[in-house]
Amino acid sequence: MVPRIDVKTAIAKKKYVGELDVTFDADGKLIDIPYVEFASPVRAALRYEIFADDKAEVTGTISFRLKGLCSRCLAETEREIGYSAEGVFAPMPKDDEYGYSNGFIDLGEFLRDSVMFALPARLLCGSCADDGSE
Ligand SMILES: [Zn+2]
Repeated sequence: MVPRIDVKTAIAKKKYVGELDVTFDADGKLIDIPYVEFASPVRAALRYEIFADDKAEVTGTISFRLKGLCSRCLAETEREIGYSAEGVFAPMPKDDEYGYSNGFIDLGEFLRDSVMFALPARLLCGSCADDGSE
């Protein structure tokens, strides 16, 4: 089930600010690093604010764990990834805004994009990351 924000109800209740905490399994195909996979579901701790023009801003943190082989020395490794995500949703979106209709914001595309942006180009184990020459 794709998490969504019920904008219509929020406006009717004059509840323009809210929080949303979702956990979901991300699509493993999003990962471009060889021998690396998700080691946990993705957690998104989000806050939204709805403005007078019906635009809504969503901000928050995306976090998950990756596990697999270090992209450099092939040692098994695991790493916690954290990412600050933000998106603007509008009934008539322009540029990099997300669209929404019927009073519901569907967070699916936004969450997928955020996971993609959060993913590092490679996964390094502790000692490879520490030697600074990344
Ligand atoms: Zn390594």
